Amino acid sequence: MASANLETTGPSMLPTTAATDRITLPVSELPEHWYNVLADLPVPLAPPIHPGTGQPLGPHDLERIFPPQLIEQEMSAQREIPIPAPVREILAMWRPTPLIRARNLERALGTPARIYFKHEGVSPAGSHKPNTAVPQAYYNSIAGITRLATETGAGQWGSALAFATRMLGMACRVFMVRVSYEQKPYRRTFMRLFGAEVYPSPSPLTNAGRAILAEHPDSPGSLGIAISEAVEEAASRDDTNYSLGSVLNHVLLHQTVIGQEARKQLELVGEEPDFVVGCHGGGSNFGGIALPFMPEVLAGGKLRAVAVEPDSCPTLTRGRFAFDFGDTAKLTPILQMYTLGHDFVPPAVHAGGLRYHGASPIISALVHRGVMDAESVGQSEVFKAAVLFAHSEGIVPAPESAHAIAAVVRKALQLRDEGRQAVILFSLSGHGFFDMAAFDAYLDGKLEDFEYPEHAIATSLARLPKISQ
Ligand SMILES: *Cc1c(COP(=O)(O)O)cnc(C)c1O
Repeated sequence: MASANLETTGPSMLPTTAATDRITLPVSELPEHWYNVLADLPVPLAPPIHPGTGQPLGPHDLERIFPPQLIEQEMSAQREIPIPAPVREILAMWRPTPLIRARNLERALGTPARIYFKHEGVSPAGSHKPNTAVPQAYYNSIAGITRLATETGAGQWGSALAFATRMLGMACRVFMVRVSYEQKPYRRTFMRLFGAEVYPSPSPLTNAGRAILAEHPDSPGSLGIAISEAVEEAASRDDTNYSLGSVLNHVLLHQTVIGQEARKQLELVGEEPDFVVGCHGGGSNFGGIALPFMPEVLAGGKLRAVAVEPDSCPTLTRGRFAFDFGDTAKLTPILQMYTLGHDFVPPAVHAGGLRYHGASPIISALVHRGVMDAESVGQSEVFKAAVLFAHSEGIVPAPESAHAIAAVVRKALQLRDEGRQAVILFSLSGHGFFDMAAFDAYLDGKLEDFEYPEHAIATSLARLPKISQ
């Protein structure tokens, strides 16, 4: 049991001031292991399929781009995996992160719900992503790798990996989705400041990039294309490995520090969550906060975990649970997941991130079996919720995180209308300080809502690989 410091004494003992609403843990309470949900899944995940042979992937197939410990974690059935001491030391630069009761938001909504958020925006890169960037850089460095290649969409993953590789004295090359590269120049600067090289994707540096540019010279890029470029780079150089910021099992594993801490923090104030909410792009912050609660849910507990995605990239709510490639050039393993099709490109009007065509296989399987829920929200609702949150809690959320806030607002208003109490825990996956262009567009009334047309989804789904299982 955690030792409570002054700030963590329950609201019943102190007046309800801002200080009692901020539940902190000492560094000694930083989790010592990651929680591996693969040990507890009712049905094992379908094995990833080799993109060339169509056969299940063996551990050796991943060795060209990943270090051995990460491959082992990707497939491990061990419930608790120890966090190496050098990784904990770096995580302790900002962890444990605070859990904060959003009391002003509750008041603004007039809801009886008690709303808590885990503030991952306090990390060096401003999001939850360093939680996995640090261990990934660490395992690569002890395997003798000196350089990492990756893709980044909105720029947060590239920022996290730029920070982590700097901490471990490694080099870093980032392929940044072109539309974000142009919309978010300061994310680019952030990565360069930490020493990373940043290129807009599609780029002329790789075969995958050149092929796209030949057909679509003005391509805005997509995560799928950028992944192809980074994987190609890693596979073609011995000193370089590939690093992925979401989707894969080991990434969700590393993010479970979020939910483990949140659990302890809620215990300190005598609360148990009824709803755990997170935005969903590839599933890592949502998995990070929700997976540590899965043992109880799988045992029949009342808690519902809700993944929230944009109407304009509705992977979990309107995609198909099927086998698909992780990238556009079909270089990555084929995973069983919810997907909109590997060549799906979200509309340019979409400003709020969460643009990936696929989803984490773990989250997909749990949603498919009805263990977790998913819903989608429109972008004007998202930005409206972001502004309400800033006005009430004083924190500018990342537009991605604001998807979770929008769903929490919906739920809190529903509880108000029904006159019901509940405890809602959500993941504030990051701050929005680098997202001012998107907020400008919203404040100027320039953001459009966009629901992806059914026929366009059907078209990209028609190109799924045929896998017989
Ligand atoms: C990357 C990112 C996301 C989306 O990725 P997940 O893997 O789904 O968590 C959400 N919020 C922020 C702040 C991010 O940086």
